[in-house]
Amino acid sequence: MKINCLTVIALALLVWPLPSSPVTAQKQKTVQSLRVKVLSTMLTGGNDGIGEWGFAALIEVDGQQILFDTGARPETVLQNVRELGIDLANVKDVILSHNHGDHTTGLLTLRREFAKKNPAALSRVHVGRGIFWNRPGSNGESNNVVKIKNDYEATGGKFIEYNEPKEILPGVWLTGPVPRVHAERNWSGSGRMKTPNGLVEDNLPEDMSFIAVTEKGLVVVSGCGHAGIINTLEHARQKVQNTNVYAALGGFHLFALNDEKLDWTASKLKEFGLKQFLGAHCTGIEAVYRIRQQVGLDRQSCVVGAVGASFDLGKGIDATALAR
Ligand SMILES: [Zn+2]
Ligand SMILES: [Zn+2]
Repeated sequence: MKINCLTVIALALLVWPLPSSPVTAQKQKTVQSLRVKVLSTMLTGGNDGIGEWGFAALIEVDGQQILFDTGARPETVLQNVRELGIDLANVKDVILSHNHGDHTTGLLTLRREFAKKNPAALSRVHVGRGIFWNRPGSNGESNNVVKIKNDYEATGGKFIEYNEPKEILPGVWLTGPVPRVHAERNWSGSGRMKTPNGLVEDNLPEDMSFIAVTEKGLVVVSGCGHAGIINTLEHARQKVQNTNVYAALGGFHLFALNDEKLDWTASKLKEFGLKQFLGAHCTGIEAVYRIRQQVGLDRQSCVVGAVGASFDLGKGIDATALAR
C-alpha cells in the first residue's frame, strides 16, 4: 500500500488519544444580574397571592424579563402578580417547561390581559420538541398545549420549538429536551403519547429548564423536573458550561421518591457544589429537608418555595417567613 501524507494524517487521527474537549471548554458569557420570583406554587408566603398545585416564576436577567411557566388555573398568576404589584406588560418571552396543565393553563389569560396594554406582551413562547405530540386520554386529547395552541396563535402569539440547547440571551440558555441518562423517572408513568414512531409511554420528552451561566456557577430554573434534576444538570454541565451548580430553583418532582433515591439525588447535588436550593411545587417538603441536611445547607439557603419568594444572584434567597 502506498502511504501518502493524507493516509498518515488519517491513521494518526485514528490512534491519537484525543484530549476530551467538550463544547464547554470555551468559557461562556456570564450574566451579571439575575432575580427569580415565584408566582405560582402550593404555599403562599403571606398576604400576597394564592396557592395552587402549579408553577410559574418571573425571571429578570440583565434587564430582560422572562415568564417561566404560567400556573395551573386560568386566573392564579394574574391575581398573584396584581397582589405582588408586578406588571407583565413588558415581558415578551414565555418559557413553557412542558405540556402539563399545571404549568400552561394561565397562558391564554395572561396573554389576553397584558396584550391590551402592549401587543407584544407574552407573544413569544419557547418550548421543547415533543410538546405538541398528542396525549390521548379517556376524554380525548389531554395535552393542554395542543388544546390552547390555536387560541393562543389567534392572539398573534408564536411558539418557538427547540430540539437542542440554545443560548437565547448572552449567558442564558434553554436546555432543550434532556437525555435520560439516569433512570430518574420523575413522572407519573400513566400517560401515553403519539410520537412519530407510534404510541409509547409519555415520559415528557419536551421537558426543559432555564440555565443562567454566572460567575458563581450555573443557576437552573425547572418547572416539574420530569427529565430528572440530575439528568438536567449533567446535560447543562456538558452542553453549556462544565462548572459547579450554584442554585437550583423551582419544581423538581421529588415528592414521591423513596429515601434511597432521594439520598442519591442529594449526593449528586452535593457533588455538583449546590449552594442555594428553592424547592417549589412538586419538589416535596421531605425532599427539601433531606437535601438541606445531606448537601449541608441551612435555613437561609435551602427552603420550600412559596408564592412571592425570590432568589437574587447577589443576595441569595428571600423565602418568606413560613417557608424556612
Ligand atoms: Zn408536569
Ligand atoms: Zn407540575
